[in-house]
Amino acid sequence: MDTHSSTSPPRAGGRTCDFLSVVVPCFNEEAVLPETHRRLTAVLAQVPESDFEIIYVDDGSEDATWSLLRELQRADHRVRVLVLSRNFGKHAAVAAGFQYARGNALVVIDADLQEPPEVIPEMVDRWRKGVDVAYGERIERKSETAFKRWASRLFHHLMARISDVAIPVNGGDFRLMDRRVVDALLAMPEHDRFMRGMVAWVGFRQEPVPFRQQARLAGKTRWPLTKLLGLAVDGIVSFSFMPLRLATWVGFVVSGLALSGIVYAVFVRLSTNAWVSGVATVFIAVLFLGGVQLILMGVLGEYLGRIYGEVKRRPLYLVRERLGFPAAGDPGAGEVRDGA
Ligand code: UDP
Ligand code: MG
Repeated sequence: MDTHSSTSPPRAGGRTCDFLSVVVPCFNEEAVLPETHRRLTAVLAQVPESDFEIIYVDDGSEDATWSLLRELQRADHRVRVLVLSRNFGKHAAVAAGFQYARGNALVVIDADLQEPPEVIPEMVDRWRKGVDVAYGERIERKSETAFKRWASRLFHHLMARISDVAIPVNGGDFRLMDRRVVDALLAMPEHDRFMRGMVAWVGFRQEPVPFRQQARLAGKTRWPLTKLLGLAVDGIVSFSFMPLRLATWVGFVVSGLALSGIVYAVFVRLSTNAWVSGVATVFIAVLFLGGVQLILMGVLGEYLGRIYGEVKRRPLYLVRERLGFPAAGDPGAGEVRDGA
């Protein structure tokens, strides 16, 4: 973790005089970026006694995102751009931003302005009062369908029940984190980055900052229902052993049923002249057991697949290009280009 002290912010210090890093993951966001940048800089300029950098992470966009970001960087030295070698997904993009951020506090915000940047000063305020994680809490979700909202609520309540750590119900990924928290997250090498869970796991002082979620300014969401379902499975499997425990319980229940079936059949055969009959009974029992076994193998597979993913120890992302990062030991230097 001390790798970060070597790249300490220009005006390091306590929580009064600070350097704020804002990380913005971008995937095909050409339609919103200019407006996002305008609103972000306007808001950040209002934060008293603070310098800032905005790190845009281009997550393998296929539209004009990259050239727009280059323009923004040329016009504004507080802009830094990381270009990933392909689309690695939002959480990897955010992790890349974390790695390169130098602030003693860090904000993560989406590029699409669904989360109003105007909330950031309030988050900074909380941070200065000693809060380590000021997370955005959605009190209204204008843009999303009733079904998506319902499914999301269901998932969060389920998570709250079965997860090993308490994950805030209406929290998203919009939050401010103290340097200590960022370092802790950087030290967590896991590939399945269920951020909400990881931040909750870290602990420290966390407080919600309510905001009204807006409709996407332009463009469309890259999180269709199937992907959200995947994220839900990620969340459950990486933060709970409940499904495995469930497997054990199902095993007990099914064996219990089978045992009572056997006892019943033997009893009927010995004490009456009749016997339990029917191919259908056998068939149903076999199919039932087969189904249960397949499901439980699937559950095991979820965990096994994750173990496989982790043991390969591949990097989370690859950076193709960096723009605007000061050279080491030369804070404030101009454009630096290299393919780290
Ligand atoms: N994003 C990304 N990589 C991806 C998908 C999304 O960096 O593979 C970014 C996207 O540009 C946006 C944020 O993650 O800034 C949230 O994405 P989106 O708005 O599509 O998700 P939603 O708000 O619908 O959950
Ligand atoms: Mg969005």
